[in-house]
Amino acid sequence: SGEAPFRHVALIGLGLIASSMAHAIRARWPEVRITGYARSEATRNQTREIGFCDAVMDSAAEAVAGADLVVLAVPIGAMGELAAEIAPHLAPDAVLTDVGSVKQAVIDAVGPHVPTHVHFVPGHPLAGTEHSGPRAGFASLFQNRWWLLTPEEGVDPAAIERLQALIAGMGAKTDQMEAGHHDLVLAVTSHAPHLIAYTMVGVADHLSRVTESEVIQYSAAGFRDFTRIAASDPTMWRDVFLTNREATLDILGRFTEELFVLQRAIRMGDGKHLHDYFTRTRAIRRGII
Ligand code: NAD
Repeated sequence: SGEAPFRHVALIGLGLIASSMAHAIRARWPEVRITGYARSEATRNQTREIGFCDAVMDSAAEAVAGADLVVLAVPIGAMGELAAEIAPHLAPDAVLTDVGSVKQAVIDAVGPHVPTHVHFVPGHPLAGTEHSGPRAGFASLFQNRWWLLTPEEGVDPAAIERLQALIAGMGAKTDQMEAGHHDLVLAVTSHAPHLIAYTMVGVADHLSRVTESEVIQYSAAGFRDFTRIAASDPTMWRDVFLTNREATLDILGRFTEELFVLQRAIRMGDGKHLHDYFTRTRAIRRGII
C-alpha cells in the first residue's frame, strides 16, 4: 500500500529486465511516469509498439531528464560509457541504480561518473529467463525473488529505502551485501553453472558418432533441464565472465578438481565414493525449494 516511492523512472536499456520492471511498476503504481531509451532503433520502436513506457526517447540524456530514479539495464560492458553520457543530465537527488549481474565491475565503471548530488545504489535482481529483448518482459518476473543491493558506505539511507520500497512493490525481497562478496556468491550460484551448461552443449556439438538430431530428440534425460540456461543472451554472458573473472575462475578451478575426483572414482569402480558423494549432494539439492 502507499504512495509510489518515485514519480518518474527512466529505464536505460529496454530488454528483459527493464521491460519486466516497467510492467511490474505499472501494475502496482500506474501513476508513475516511465521513460526509456535503448541503443538500437528497432528496440525503441518495438517498445513504442508494446507501450510499457510513457515515452521512448532517442537519447539517454532525454530519457533521464527530470527522472527521480534512473535504472541502467544494459549489458555490464556498456554501463560505464552510458553513466558518463547521462551524468550531466541527472536531476539533483536522483537515485541511480543498475541491474547488472556483476557488482564490483559496475561500481568501478559507473562510480567515478556519478555526480555528488546523485545517490548511486547498485542492484541485482536474482530473476531472469533465457529470453531477451523488450518483448520478453512480464510483470511477475520478480515475484518472491531476491533483489540484492550493494551500496557503498556513506550512501544516503533514505535513497536505499526508496529503492527498497520500489523493489517490494514489484514483489521482490531485498538484501544488502558488499559487492565483492556478491560476486563470489553469484559465481557459485549462477555464473559457473552457466559456463558449465554452455560447455555441455559444446561437448554435444563436437561429437561425431552422436548426431545433432539424436541429441535434440533424446535430450529429456538430463541434457534438456541441465542446459536450458545455455540459451541465454551471449553478450550478457560474455560480459559476466569478463567482469567477474577472479571469482568465476576460483569456482571453476574447484569444479574441475571435484570433477577429476569423480572421474577417478568411475575409472577405479569406486561405487562407495560415488554413492556417498551423490547422497551428500542430494541432501543439499533437496534443501533448495
Ligand atoms: P537484454 O539483452 O534483454 O536487454 C539489453 C538491452 O540493452 C537492450 O534493450 C539493448 O538494446 C540495450 N543496450 C545494449 N547496449 C546498449 C548501449 N550501449 N546503450 C543503450 N542500450 C544498450 O538484457 P537483460 O536480460 O535485460 O539484461 C540487462 C542487464 O540485466 C545485464 O546487465 C544483465 O547482466 C542483467 N541481468 C540479467 C538477467 C537475466 O537473466 N537476463 C538477470 C539479472 C540481471
